[in-house]
Amino acid sequence: MAPHLKTKTNPHRRVEFGRRDKEHLVLAVDIGGTKVEAALVSQAGKIVLSGRRPMAAKGGASEGLRAVRATIDGVLGRSRGGEIRAIGVSVPGWVDANTGKVLKAANLPCWRDYPLAQKLQDLCDLPTRIANDANAAAMAEARWGAGRRYKSFFYVSLGTGIGTGVVQDTQGSPHTPSSEGGHVTINYRGPLCPCGKRGCIEMYASGKALARRATHLLAQRGARGSLLRTLARESGVNAELVGRAAAGGDRVAVGILEEACDHLTVWLGNIIDLLEPEAIVFGGGLGRLMLSYAPRIRRRLKTFAIRPNRAEIPIVGARFGSQSALLGAAALWLQE
Ligand SMILES: [Zn+2]
Repeated sequence: MAPHLKTKTNPHRRVEFGRRDKEHLVLAVDIGGTKVEAALVSQAGKIVLSGRRPMAAKGGASEGLRAVRATIDGVLGRSRGGEIRAIGVSVPGWVDANTGKVLKAANLPCWRDYPLAQKLQDLCDLPTRIANDANAAAMAEARWGAGRRYKSFFYVSLGTGIGTGVVQDTQGSPHTPSSEGGHVTINYRGPLCPCGKRGCIEMYASGKALARRATHLLAQRGARGSLLRTLARESGVNAELVGRAAAGGDRVAVGILEEACDHLTVWLGNIIDLLEPEAIVFGGGLGRLMLSYAPRIRRRLKTFAIRPNRAEIPIVGARFGSQSALLGAAALWLQE
């Protein structure tokens, strides 16, 4: 379904379009629990102009919407030239891309079953699409990043949680059906996840899981004298610290990361047998760190997947870092 993109006169918009510069732009909005970032993005995936404001995630629904609107106005107010065709929004949570509703997002308690796309469409008089942030990031990789060379790939955002994007080429255009791969169970007796299920991969290989495991191990005698413990004294335990200690050769930290990777392998083995992706792309704040364990993952995939090419599937790093969801929000429109 190709929506009609042409904009109508918009009384809310303070943009003056230069006659010579008729480049088509998408207004991308990345909404997080603490901040909103908005940007004008060109057809080539270049951020022309951007701005950010605090997000009001814990108040009422209209307060949250006002924070988004203020961020958008801030960017549009500084815009010079180019025709804005549509709005793409990424949200860290469960969304219904078809109806444009935010169903539930842990970091955005202001919205539940909230028709965000419709609200923005009414406010800005521009067609609006929304997507889960990992789905959006996968789209950015498909369009301009590490996934460009592949017809299909599985995108994993490794951060505080685990997000996923299943990218499939549909008649020459990448398509990302919404997915919640971080909540695929790999152990039915595993720890209870905030989503309500047990043993989700997020409970074993996310930043939160690494920090939890490190805290547990540091409380034991065997961790005495470890570099991880020394580092943790200065700044507290987090996933980044585990990475630093592992880089320094700390055995406790290396053990934590190897264990997380082995859990990832079991999960990826299932994904590979189910979807047969051409490649796997690791993104998110911990993407690079986990990518350094790709040889181990590939070796062990021989045990945890049955497709003949399982150990040869490339595992590559994402191109985009902290702005992947923002660019992905734009990619929701620029794919056409
Ligand atoms: Zn879960």
